[in-house]
Amino acid sequence: MEKSQSKPSLFLLLVILGITLGHFKPMDLNKKSHNPEERGNYFEGDIVLPDWNPRSNGINMRNGVLDLNRRWPGGVVPYEINGIFLPNHMKIIEDAFKEFHTRTCVRFKPRTTEKDYISIESENSGCWSKIGRVGGRQEVNLQVNLEVNLEKPDCLYKVGVPIHELMHALGFCHEHSRPDRDLYVIVKNKTQINTPDYVKLGPGVSTDFGEKYDYTSVMHYTGDFLIALIDTPDVKNMGQVDGFSAADVRKINAMYNCNA
Ligand SMILES: [Zn+2]
Repeated sequence: MEKSQSKPSLFLLLVILGITLGHFKPMDLNKKSHNPEERGNYFEGDIVLPDWNPRSNGINMRNGVLDLNRRWPGGVVPYEINGIFLPNHMKIIEDAFKEFHTRTCVRFKPRTTEKDYISIESENSGCWSKIGRVGGRQEVNLQVNLEVNLEKPDCLYKVGVPIHELMHALGFCHEHSRPDRDLYVIVKNKTQINTPDYVKLGPGVSTDFGEKYDYTSVMHYTGDFLIALIDTPDVKNMGQVDGFSAADVRKINAMYNCNA
């Protein structure tokens, strides 16, 4: 996406403002990506950073956050739905929940009185989420079209998009930000390489849960700005929004001790 702020300090300032204001730039609707979460002008397209910077030294994530405080106790994520969604949108959200419930031990449950919860909203600011449990109410935004307009992004046109955003809320970052990503992909657009959208995360104290680099992860962007270095049959599925890859499921189950 077009990022005018190339200096990290200015970017961080804008991020702070963005958190305060909810968003700080409109969507770039000229992107050709079919993957609407890639088009938001947030950290890596769709991540609104909480109060820490994963690119700083002492980074505590590779693909999944290690900080136990960022995880949801017992894998239970209370939610409210506060956006305006049509029945077809609601079905996609419910399908996403069902995927988690069927294949992992994570449970999304309607909020009653829980202090920490996600609020699923539908503002015209794209598809985005914070990473992990932040504390209190945290938004997961899923912009939708209430009328037929193919030019507008719709985060609920395929189940993989809400799955992607909910994985951020569980504590996962983008697959293509892993420290070892240069062995597998290069950023084709050199003007993008040092932007927060595609910057490579530094090494840290986290784990990738023993999983190999996964082109087919639902947390991997498309080839619009990336190119595969190693030609494997899987690469053609890079940036897919159909749902979990097998490794995505294993990583969620590892993060939340589902097999314990
Ligand atoms: Zn994302």
